[in-house]
Amino acid sequence: MSERPAYDYVVAGGGTAGAVVAARLSEDPGVSVGLLEWGPTDQHEPRALQIRRWSEMLESEYDLDYASVPQPRGNSCIRQARARILGGCSAHNTMIALRPPRADFDRWVALGGHGWDPGTMSTYFARLAASIVPVAAEHRNAYLADVVEAASAALGVPVREDWNAAGYRDGAGFLPIGYDPDTGVRSSSSVAYLHPILGTRGNLEVLTQTRVLRVVFDAGRRATGVTVRRADGQVADIAARREVIVCCGAIDTPRLLMLSGIGPGQRLRELGIEVVADLPGVGSNLCDHTEGLVVWEAARPIPPEGATDWDITIMYRTDPVSVVPDVLAHVPLMTFAMHAERLGYRTPRHSISMTPNVTQPRSRGTVTLASADPDDPPLIDYRMFTDADGHDERTLLAGIRMARRVAGQAPMSGWVAREVFPGPDVQTDEELSALARATCHTVYYVSCTARMGAPGDRGAVLDPQLRVRGVDRLRVIDASAFPVLTTVNPVVAVLMLAERGAELVRG
Ligand SMILES: Cc1cc2nc3c(=O)[nH]c(=O)nc-3n(C[C@H](O)[C@H](O)[C@H](O)COP(=O)(O)OP(=O)(O)OC[C@H]3O[C@@H](n4cnc5c(N)ncnc54)[C@H](O)[C@@H]3O)c2cc1C
Repeated sequence: MSERPAYDYVVAGGGTAGAVVAARLSEDPGVSVGLLEWGPTDQHEPRALQIRRWSEMLESEYDLDYASVPQPRGNSCIRQARARILGGCSAHNTMIALRPPRADFDRWVALGGHGWDPGTMSTYFARLAASIVPVAAEHRNAYLADVVEAASAALGVPVREDWNAAGYRDGAGFLPIGYDPDTGVRSSSSVAYLHPILGTRGNLEVLTQTRVLRVVFDAGRRATGVTVRRADGQVADIAARREVIVCCGAIDTPRLLMLSGIGPGQRLRELGIEVVADLPGVGSNLCDHTEGLVVWEAARPIPPEGATDWDITIMYRTDPVSVVPDVLAHVPLMTFAMHAERLGYRTPRHSISMTPNVTQPRSRGTVTLASADPDDPPLIDYRMFTDADGHDERTLLAGIRMARRVAGQAPMSGWVAREVFPGPDVQTDEELSALARATCHTVYYVSCTARMGAPGDRGAVLDPQLRVRGVDRLRVIDASAFPVLTTVNPVVAVLMLAERGAELVRG
């Protein structure tokens, strides 16, 4: 092995958060930063750059495409997209860019996230380098405009033009998107934070096609570097003089921590992994917005205009006492019916659909290791609809009924020929629940699997400075660190968390 490279900061994972962290830390010319990304660069990949081509990334060579373990109360066929490319999931997603409501950060504080209050977090929203703009006029689809109008009329909610203005609760409207409307290029963390500086900072090295296999510790449980495997199969060590910062996302961060000996001690020992820190919370508390589905035959072809194909949202409180919307529905322009098709439903040539999400899910899942082999896929158990009081199931059904109300209201009703899935005959809670649970989907918002928390909270993996407990010089900065998932789509919260995380590291 040649002399091992060394940086002050080693950032493992050049995804949504990792790109921000590396860019911000390397603003200081006095420190060196090594950004290690498992996948290739996104710079020359039009499928990653052009936001409307996002679905071509699904199940592509960039998608880690993780399976689910069987779900007794949910859908066992969920495939969890995780983009292995510079920019991570922000180089793949639809970049719906919603600022979380204040209540979300209040919850973070209540769960032990001291310092993550809404006032403090506003400064990080203001600092974001991503270009966040409403869906441009030329991309506004006439059918979607009718859905917005129908939702407002059917549900009695306002039409929203600026979702990111503080204080929103429920409404319907075109979304803010992280993109450049003139070029169609997404404003991923890679595009917004890395592309402008790549090759211009002598203190930042971006090593793509470099997978971190484990974090290395000295006898005093201080993280001193990482072991990596490059695309040619070569294994090498890279030293970190100050800190290792793990930004591998909500599945691969707990996976890497566990492979490095940080996690539930007994389980690690059973797998033959030497325990560095016994932290039972690693890989637990997995949170995602459970997503339902309604499909209709369209009365006529849908016009083609769109920014991302997922350009509007409906936010609604099916439970009037909820402080924030408990249902958030997407209205895709693309055909989106694969889980209904799997049950034998045939999608008509012209179809429309709506996907109501449960925004405050109470069920919690897990990510665990199948073995000590880093090439064995992790075991993802969403444990859907296992919450004690049935909140998630109840809210999903309320979301589906909300979708039906909107579809029955003019002017959306003029676009609907008939309901295809679940189908007009499916009306009772029991029938609706069985079909909704069998076809429910991830929205790809997995999070909270190495959550921060207060001292004394045994399930917390990180302190509020995002430092891993029980060891030194190791942090986690990505969606795993969320104490609880945001009400809205999480990418803006990940960017804000990364901005704050970088500041905490600079300390
Ligand atoms: C298809 C899709 C659509 C979505 N749509 C939206 C949306 O419209 N709006 C929204 O708000 N959210 C959306 N999301 C969710 C959002 O994109 C994610 O929550 C967010 O990007 C996660 O950021 P992260 O930094 O935690 O992880 P990631 O962005 O996944 O970054 C992890 C990075 O680490 C790398 N990595 C993993 N393991 C290793 C290793 N061992 N060594 C080195 N590198 C490693 C990966 O290759 C990746 O680049 C979507 C997600 C997907 C997949």
